[in-house]
Amino acid sequence: MPPAAPIEPLPLVRAHGVRKSFGENEVLKGIDLEVRSGEVVCLIGASGSGKSTFLRCVNHLEKIDGGLVWVGERAVGYRIKGDKLHEQSHNEICADRTDIGMVFQHFNLFPHMTVLENLMEAPLRVLKQRKAEVRRRALDLLEKVGLSAKADAYPRHLSGGQQQRVAIARALCMQPKLMLFDEPTSALDPELVGEVLRVMKDLARTGMTMIVVTHEMGFARDVADRVVFMHGGRIIEEGPAEEVIGNPQHERTRAFLSAVL
Ligand code: ADP
Ligand code: MG
Repeated sequence: MPPAAPIEPLPLVRAHGVRKSFGENEVLKGIDLEVRSGEVVCLIGASGSGKSTFLRCVNHLEKIDGGLVWVGERAVGYRIKGDKLHEQSHNEICADRTDIGMVFQHFNLFPHMTVLENLMEAPLRVLKQRKAEVRRRALDLLEKVGLSAKADAYPRHLSGGQQQRVAIARALCMQPKLMLFDEPTSALDPELVGEVLRVMKDLARTGMTMIVVTHEMGFARDVADRVVFMHGGRIIEEGPAEEVIGNPQHERTRAFLSAVL
C-alpha cells in the first residue's frame, strides 16, 4: 500500500556534531545543521565565529575532527563500503567536490583567461564535457548574470561587481547541487553590492540550494528561508529570517544585530 502522506526527502546537507580545531583552538564545537534541497540559509555571526571554517568543512577544504557532514548521498571525506566509512582518496574528494560550487570574498578568477575561458575551464578539464555544450551553457550563464558583452574580456578589465558575477557564473557552469557563498559582497564598493545580490536572488528563485555567509541583513530578510546565527563555534539561534532578524531571542544575537543593522 502506498504511504498515506508523501515521505519527506532527506535534506541535501546534513551536518551532525561537526567539530574542528586548529591546534588548541576549537573553532567548531558541534555544529548541527540541515539544509533542504532548494532552501536558502544565511549564516550570520561575528568575525571569528567559525562561519568560513564551517563552509570549508562542507566543501572538503578542511578535514573535520568530529561529527559528519553529508551532502546528498555522500559523507564528506568518506566513502561508504558495506556499512563502514572509509577515508576518501584525493581523487574521490575531487570527484565529490564537483557537486558543490563556492564563491569567495575575493573572486579568485584565473587572471590569464578571458571570462568565457574562466567559465569553461573546469567543465572541460574536470568533467571532460564536450566543448560545444560547455560553451553554450557558459554563454547562457553569462547572459543570466548580465555579462554577455564581457565574454572575451580579461578579469582585470572588469569591476569588482562584474568579477564576482563571473565567479558565480563560473561556479554554476559546473552544474552544482549546492552553492556556498562566503561573504560574496564584503570586498565590493557599496555601489557594486546590489548587482551581485540581484544575481544571487535570481539564483535562489531557480530553486538552487544555497548557504550564504553574509552581513547583508536586507538580503537575508528578503531571500533566506532560514537564518542561522553562530557564535564561538556554535549555533546559538536559528529560524525564519523575520524571526531571527526581527525578533531575536538570544542576547548575543541581539548584540550582533545591533552592531550590523
Ligand atoms: P569567520 O568566518 O566566522 O570569521 P573563521 O571560520 O574564519 O571565522 O575563523 C574561526 C577561527 O578559526 C578564528 O579564530 C580563526 O583565527 C581560526 N582559523 C581559521 N582558519 C584557520 C587556519 N587555517 N589555521 C588556524 N586557525 C584558523
Ligand atoms: Mg569568514
